[in-house]
Amino acid sequence: MLENLDPAAPDALLALIKLHAADPRSDKIDLGVGVYRTAQGDTPVFAAIKAAERRLVETQVSKSYLGPEGDMGFVHALMPHIFGTDPTMGGRIEGMQTPGGTGAVRLAAALAKAAGVTRVHMGTPSWPNHAQILADLEVEPVPFEHARADGTANVDAVLQAIRGAGPGEAVLLHGCCHNPTGIDYTPEQWDAIAAALADGAVLPIIDVAYQGLGHGMEADAVGLRTVLAAVPEALVAYSCDKNFGLYRDRVGAFYVMARDGGQLPAILSNAAALARANWSMPPDHGAAAVRLVLDDAELAAQWQDELGVMRARMRQVRDRLAEQGLAGTIDLTPLAAQNGLFSMLPLSREQIAMLRDDHAIYMAGSGRINVAGLTADNIERFIAALTDVAR
Ligand code: PMP
Repeated sequence: MLENLDPAAPDALLALIKLHAADPRSDKIDLGVGVYRTAQGDTPVFAAIKAAERRLVETQVSKSYLGPEGDMGFVHALMPHIFGTDPTMGGRIEGMQTPGGTGAVRLAAALAKAAGVTRVHMGTPSWPNHAQILADLEVEPVPFEHARADGTANVDAVLQAIRGAGPGEAVLLHGCCHNPTGIDYTPEQWDAIAAALADGAVLPIIDVAYQGLGHGMEADAVGLRTVLAAVPEALVAYSCDKNFGLYRDRVGAFYVMARDGGQLPAILSNAAALARANWSMPPDHGAAAVRLVLDDAELAAQWQDELGVMRARMRQVRDRLAEQGLAGTIDLTPLAAQNGLFSMLPLSREQIAMLRDDHAIYMAGSGRINVAGLTADNIERFIAALTDVAR
């Protein structure tokens, strides 16, 4: 029976990682993989997380099952950071732990489907797994154009999608640090989006995978909080894998804001049943470490400092690229106003192949670059290579 399976298309980014690893050139540059890198090119464990992990080893008395909702101490400790000073919006928000932001997106889409959603409006380009998850759930993605050619957001497209949507439709938005474009909505644009969503005809699903990597934990929450303050109900998918550097530990959370707090038990019982059928329970270790960090003022401050260092480094790279202005025909100035790990360069397939073959510079086929792959040691070479291929 298994011979019926045709080979699945290989994951393009994983293939790129292999190509980069096999390249013997010592000055190769990896702008493909989606993890933060220090100026030395490392992706270290946060010191605050290391300290929490040591504490966890010392104090954890059992690894017995917790249940499909995972570590609710973790889920609740995150809430003021995500939702602000009224973290339950008057008792209308509750959540559960998920295996990474991916698990949270999966759960949000599956729950939306169970509630009757058949179509999800989403800006493109997007994180490729959004479309894959919707396809797997047999929910129809309805694309709108996220970005304008000048490197800013096409807010008219999202407003049009929301206003044109009928019953049984949702809109999937990136909370901050858009992957892959780095293009976020401005606070004024979020106001307009929130106003368009306010009547509750379209269900907002907000994916927050990079909070704190743009302008800080509070500033990066503005869009999400603006929408939640305006709408009757929403779903939120959250990842701690970037802002706590926990990637492989798979740390995420899924939150529901209901019209009425009384609806939460029924909604979350459905989410728990979906989680049970998908992964049963989320992995504990990373979320427990995050809980220990957030519950300890000193560790929390240390984590915020470490996040600030990451942010400042990415801003420095963006500013250097933007200061260049043109690299050949490629305008790098929009990168300064963009946020997070990623931006997209308008390069052709041929130019991307030339960067790889002639200059040992690796990036996704879409032209997405991870700005954290650039350092003081390689950024000038990158700019020179761009100038060479984009003449
Ligand atoms: N959403 C977006 C927009 C992402 O870019 C990512 C990860 N790259 C995720 C969700 C999932 O993150 P995680 O690694 O926590 O599953």
